[in-house]
Amino acid sequence: MTTVFHRAPKRTLPVAVAGDGIEIIDSTGKRYIDASGGAAVSCLGHSNQRVIDAIKRQAQQLAYAHTSFFTTQPAEDLADWLIDRAPRGLDHVYFVSGGSEAVEAALKLARQYFVEKGEPERRHFIARRQSYHGNTLGALAIGGNAWRREPFLPILIEAHHVSPCYAYREQLEGESDDAYTQRLADELESKILELGPQTVAAFVAETVVGATAGAVPPVRDYFRKIRAVCDKYGVLLILDEIMSGMGRTGYLYACEEDGVAPDLLTIAKGLGAGYQPIGATLVSDKIYGAIVNGSGFFQHGHTYIGHATACAAALEVQHVIAEENLLGNVKARGEQLRSLLREHYARHEHIGDVRGRGLFVGVELVEDRASKTPFASSLALNAAIKREAMQRGLMVYPMGGTVDGATGDHVLLAPPFICNADDIENIVSRLTDAIEGALRAAGV
Ligand code: PLP
Repeated sequence: MTTVFHRAPKRTLPVAVAGDGIEIIDSTGKRYIDASGGAAVSCLGHSNQRVIDAIKRQAQQLAYAHTSFFTTQPAEDLADWLIDRAPRGLDHVYFVSGGSEAVEAALKLARQYFVEKGEPERRHFIARRQSYHGNTLGALAIGGNAWRREPFLPILIEAHHVSPCYAYREQLEGESDDAYTQRLADELESKILELGPQTVAAFVAETVVGATAGAVPPVRDYFRKIRAVCDKYGVLLILDEIMSGMGRTGYLYACEEDGVAPDLLTIAKGLGAGYQPIGATLVSDKIYGAIVNGSGFFQHGHTYIGHATACAAALEVQHVIAEENLLGNVKARGEQLRSLLREHYARHEHIGDVRGRGLFVGVELVEDRASKTPFASSLALNAAIKREAMQRGLMVYPMGGTVDGATGDHVLLAPPFICNADDIENIVSRLTDAIEGALRAAGV
């Protein structure tokens, strides 16, 4: 996440003035293919008339009503839509305005659940070193990037970190998938035992890791084993699908593909597709029941919870995805994107890995393919790729440098679900040029 001040003396960014399908147009008339959906947000592209009309209708009728007085039909309908399709046991929804708020709500729901249950000792959160969960204080505390936490450490809750499931770099030579995932489950179990099982509230993970690592999917059975460890010690499982959920992987909820149901599930980004800011925390019946039958209410709240216009927009986004079978397109175009990238880069000495699920794809760059050595962060290769891509009218989401010693430079692609086969070819061709341009500029 870059942080951009407005009213800053020196404006370096182009001014976006219009959207047209998968493209954004700036004030000079230049067009950019939005191959990252911004930050994996704009899943319907930029000018979807149905969503625009739904927003207009709702704003005209009733833009907003505060949740301490009313619920609204769009909020109830959206909750039904999400729960009817949610993993087993997730029966309730808490709407918020974005990703970090959804994570904060999940952390507090987990904590309050144990307080209501008479287990107030349960206060520790365990997350993974390779993760991003947001920038508010709770979300920042559990996120994996030590450098992000560093300036704020004295004011953060204590969180604990274990290894990610990152086969490309961390699965040992000759280690089977089964042995690798067992090793990771054992590591989590050891961490729970070290902290004291009666003190651990929840384990938090992104189902498919997004911005910190470039669309890293879990190895088969990883989450089943993690779920079993959590269950053994009564620890809650929180899955963060703020980037990977809402169809991005070809499934409405990414964890469907892993056959696990978490106790709390966070979503945002693709939920409103950028047409309105909205996020949500899906809550299991056992947590909801403990709170409602205990003190009676969740001790939390924001002004814009269940915002009627945001909910109407998100509901229409979900209707469009379903009626136009866009999840089918995500699967087909995602396959095409990965296989084109793999073809292009099969023999490229600086492309270490192409990975992902659906239209959530990562390309990892390495200085040396055999040893997987990352490029020195001083080269700022990711920034150069972004610059070269923007020059060529392409938006991609590069992250990198060496993050906590685990990840080098990578490019994250998350194009709109409405992409066709030609769009995918165009994205790959512009990205290839941008990467070559950045490597040349870095003197590689
Ligand atoms: N969780 C994940 C996995 C994310 O990718 C992000 C944002 O990139 C967040 C949480 C935070 O969301 P927001 O930026 O809407 O607060």
